Amino acid sequence: MGFCPGLIYQSWDFFSTCYFPLRSVDIQSHFMENFLHMEKQITIIGGGLAGCEAAWQASKRDISVLLYEMKPQRFSPAHVSSLLGELVCSNSLRSNSLYNAVGLLKEEMRRLDSLIMKVAEETRVPAGEALAVDRQAFSSGITARLEAIDKVKIFREEMTQIPSEDIVIIASGPLTSPPLAESIKKLTGEESLYFYDAISPIVDGESLNKNVVFRASRYGEGNDYINCPMTPEEYYRFVDQLLKGEKVPYRDFERPVHFEGCLPLEEMAERGRETLAHGPMKPVGLKEPRSGKIPYAVVQLRQEDGPGTAFNLVGFQTKLKWKEQERIFRLIPGLEQAVFLRFGSLHRNTFIHSPTLLQKTLQLKKDPRILFAGQITGVEGYVESAAMGLLAGINAARVIQGKAPVIPPETTAMGGLIHYITNQQVKEFQPMNVNFGLFPPLARRIRGKDKRTAIGERALKDLEVWKKLFTAENAEDAELI
Ligand SMILES: Cc1cc2nc3c(=O)[nH]c(=O)nc-3n(C[C@H](O)[C@H](O)[C@H](O)COP(=O)(O)OP(=O)(O)OC[C@H]3O[C@@H](n4cnc5c(N)ncnc54)[C@H](O)[C@@H]3O)c2cc1C
Repeated sequence: MGFCPGLIYQSWDFFSTCYFPLRSVDIQSHFMENFLHMEKQITIIGGGLAGCEAAWQASKRDISVLLYEMKPQRFSPAHVSSLLGELVCSNSLRSNSLYNAVGLLKEEMRRLDSLIMKVAEETRVPAGEALAVDRQAFSSGITARLEAIDKVKIFREEMTQIPSEDIVIIASGPLTSPPLAESIKKLTGEESLYFYDAISPIVDGESLNKNVVFRASRYGEGNDYINCPMTPEEYYRFVDQLLKGEKVPYRDFERPVHFEGCLPLEEMAERGRETLAHGPMKPVGLKEPRSGKIPYAVVQLRQEDGPGTAFNLVGFQTKLKWKEQERIFRLIPGLEQAVFLRFGSLHRNTFIHSPTLLQKTLQLKKDPRILFAGQITGVEGYVESAAMGLLAGINAARVIQGKAPVIPPETTAMGGLIHYITNQQVKEFQPMNVNFGLFPPLARRIRGKDKRTAIGERALKDLEVWKKLFTAENAEDAELI
């Protein structure tokens, strides 16, 4: 049945085998038979970005949700707020542009009625082409939306065991509490893998030297960032001190394996004295208004809150000791008197070996009653984590409704991520941000921006077809997505 000319996927058969793959699998049908006798509710562990998105998606499909969040009873080393959907580090959900893979992922999520995207739009603060939010308003918005849903019951309790009944979504995040991590280990039989993620320092806007810093976005597109310009002398002095600075030593149980996109500043500097000037401190497109020249290096500060009183040092994740951060970061022109509202740090990240453990539906291969969502699946980033929650919420609801779970086409940003985390060909599995390298090649060779445009158009077209297909299975569902 050629229902969709011009698209890569041309037939119902193709879709039904690729995107409803479990119909014929014995384990799934055996599970479905047993499941029909179970209570029809979903237990979600973790009220972070993924857990909240999953709760929203399932409840809007009229499914009862029990959402367990351990805060405020217990906090991870990075969480500080008792609200749901807390952003533990940056207040930016990164690019909003469709020429950027994470912008595309956001658009897909909007089209699937994402709670996280909805609230992010409502609580947005200026950040150029990025979607940044007022973190307090963002988490409050998510909490309020979920608390208002009758179908969602929120329990402020730590789960130490995985429930032996119900459909369960494990969305306990990169800082899953140790007892639960133990239970996951028992369930999966896999050792958790550790690496370090990173927090950038935040400074008080009032304490910046306004005679030195200047407002600008790159290439003159707005003035959302505060920039600290550096001469070569200032830059090298800073790099030298950074290299000498005293760092927090790694603990025995931690393996120092970093996610390439989130290296500590001082480790980047160790790769060469110019590395930072080509990385987080690159001055390109940032003309200093007083001299009219592009500085040798620039430290960019991004607004953290609605009123604009707090700013984070973009890309300044570090393992420097706090005192050293104060001393060394105050060498940056404009930050001589900076008041630090938060210091940078690095944290452990818990994630499972999804390629061997998970199906593309996010169900555990050996027990499809259990789904994983969020950062713990091996995606990296707020938006990516929420996207995995979105899919887990849809699939958990579908399983309860006796329908086959679904998988987004690989040509979409969501599908690309799913494919990556479940790809058994990947030798050394490490967490992944969404990026254009995850998408299958286009039928014809195009380069640059045109290529990104074509990938984006293909993704959104395929997403629409996919959405129609799985909503059309049951007409009553059609309006739910
Ligand atoms: C320190 C750090 C900084 C990061 N910075 C960024 C960043 O700047 N930008 C970015 O895009 N990504 C960042 N990430 C990566 C990641 O995208 C975020 O951590 C994201 O919040 C993950 O979403 P999640 O829903 O999977 O987990 P979380 O948002 O962490 O949510 C998990 C929730 O589960 C709860 N929980 C844990 N164990 C239990 C239990 N046993 N019972 C009940 N509840 C439990 C936790 O309290 C938490 O609320 C960072 C990660 C870390 C660790």
